[in-house]
Amino acid sequence: MTGTFVEPEPTPLALLLLGQQSDPNSERGVECPGDLPAPSDPDLVARARAAKEALGDRLFILGHHYQRDEVIQFADVTGDSFKLSQQAAARPEAEFIVFCGVHFMAESADILTSDEQKVILPDMAAGCSMADMAEIGQVEDCWRVLERVGVAETTIPITYMNSSAAIKSFTGKNGGSVCTSSNAERSMTWAFEQGDKVLFLPDQHLGRNTAVRDLGLSLDDCVVYDPRKENGGLTDEQIRNAKVLLWRGHCSVHGRFTAECVDDVRERVPDVTVIVHPECDYSVVEKADQVGSTEKIIAAIESAPAGSAWAVGTELNLVKRLALQNPDKEIVYLDKTVCFCSTMNRIDLPHLVWSLENLVAGNVVNQIVVDPDTQHWAKVALDRMLALPGPSPARD
Ligand code: SF4
Repeated sequence: MTGTFVEPEPTPLALLLLGQQSDPNSERGVECPGDLPAPSDPDLVARARAAKEALGDRLFILGHHYQRDEVIQFADVTGDSFKLSQQAAARPEAEFIVFCGVHFMAESADILTSDEQKVILPDMAAGCSMADMAEIGQVEDCWRVLERVGVAETTIPITYMNSSAAIKSFTGKNGGSVCTSSNAERSMTWAFEQGDKVLFLPDQHLGRNTAVRDLGLSLDDCVVYDPRKENGGLTDEQIRNAKVLLWRGHCSVHGRFTAECVDDVRERVPDVTVIVHPECDYSVVEKADQVGSTEKIIAAIESAPAGSAWAVGTELNLVKRLALQNPDKEIVYLDKTVCFCSTMNRIDLPHLVWSLENLVAGNVVNQIVVDPDTQHWAKVALDRMLALPGPSPARD
């Protein structure tokens, strides 16, 4: 038989990763219209500077810790997603908020800023693979399963900041709250005061680490709900008996770290302190010395004594920057192979220059707009988090 090679059709996800086409069901958005400057243009830095200067106080640039250095150098403030959204809200005079981060973060900034402020994401294909693992239709299907089983009324949804505005809105409508990695324990404790079961979205690892390590539940109290399977892949009895239903989602960056990485680095680096993000698997977190959000990781390393050695389990751009900023300490990446967040890395200098120059020319490009109803209920869920007792929530 003579074979004819059939060119494979690119999948929608592959096209999105290439910055092409759109997927209305994904938290990613649409392709960039217009021509981008060439990455090889030697004037990119000067062009970004000139555009920033021309926009003056009308512009406020936010840079997430996981962004490339070439972009971070133009950020007016750097931080984690929640801190950056709060910073945007604290700058009402800024007409344009350029968010160098990923799609769900820009949505949160739009929710927390005034209607007059325009939030811009330099590349609409900068999504988050974890946020994309919980689509609103799937979550509504899950809720229908819980209703049929008779547990929806006593189940409180908690969604991590790393989720689409639609999921935050669903959470707000159904009596739940948003959480960050630093207040997940308080959010889950609060949820168990409101009901007797928690649906934790979309990161199963943060949910499990919080339930077991912080709240003292057993691993058996947690079941994983797989949205691609009938009934989430669970029996009605499993759903009824579970205390925490963990959505089957994870971060593709933090999911790379394994317990073996921890064993290996302890052999390679004498007296190393292993610090990891709670989006890592339970087995990794159990073996680490410290667990914390990006802001906690930064603070721990900055305040550590000179000469100390650290293995860091989080995104590589941040780890490289920490190593540069702390030359008196030994800082190594927890995994031996390189891993950036590919969607965070989509925001590069050409996209930043393209969006800034368009703003100078009076064209608002790549604006992130959350519709009023979604915005209202997402804000309800965010406000519930802000009202949680204890220190000011932030940091993921
Ligand atoms: S590091 Fe993970 S959670 Fe953060 S934006 Fe990238 S894929 Fe999403």
